[in-house]
Amino acid sequence: MYDMTVESARIINEEGVKSVAVVGLHPAEGYELLRRGWSRKEVLDFMRRGIDLAAEYVKNGKAVGIGEIGRPHWDVPKDVVDLFNELLEYAFGVAKDVNAVVHLHLERNGINTASSIIDMVKRVGNRPYSVVMHHAEPIVIDIANDNGLMPSIPMGRKGEFEEAVKYGPRFVVESDFIDDPKRPGAVIPPWTLVKKLRTYLINGFIGEDFLHTLCVENISRVYGVDVMG
Ligand SMILES: [Zn+2]
Repeated sequence: MYDMTVESARIINEEGVKSVAVVGLHPAEGYELLRRGWSRKEVLDFMRRGIDLAAEYVKNGKAVGIGEIGRPHWDVPKDVVDLFNELLEYAFGVAKDVNAVVHLHLERNGINTASSIIDMVKRVGNRPYSVVMHHAEPIVIDIANDNGLMPSIPMGRKGEFEEAVKYGPRFVVESDFIDDPKRPGAVIPPWTLVKKLRTYLINGFIGEDFLHTLCVENISRVYGVDVMG
């Protein structure tokens, strides 16, 4: 599956869209293994191997980052949260060693969610803006950005981009893969994201400078990619 992701990025690049690959094991993966009766240790070992393998991909230049990794966004017992926190801290360490970007899948618990990640990242010492909070809430933009995290705001959720803009261009925006057919429109595909941004620009809700910071400067800050070049 990592290879499929890398290959997808390569194909998109050939079509003229700048693309880099980020590979990793989603927390749902580990959660499902627990649910099927794997022991805590077995799940930790398996998920750590997934992180180590992702780091190999970064080391040999196939990928730039590790993700989505993180915590379940649904309610789980505390010992399960602890397990995923242990994995997160491990992943931050590995990412720092190979200078990898990290994409985080997290619960949406506002400032609490952001603070817990800030603490870990500070302890480990990852490069500023190398950690992306995927599906972030606008309310975390200031605290995340002030502490060297990059919040990524989903464009599909009603009113959230409008809310995010109030904080200034201190975030990135995202599309996502809809994994639940019962919630159409909960997240949007990349081509719709582009259309939406263009509409916001045309109707004057954002200016060109704002869009440039969001989609060129902030992307370069995280991934080291020049999207204009
Ligand atoms: Zn996610």
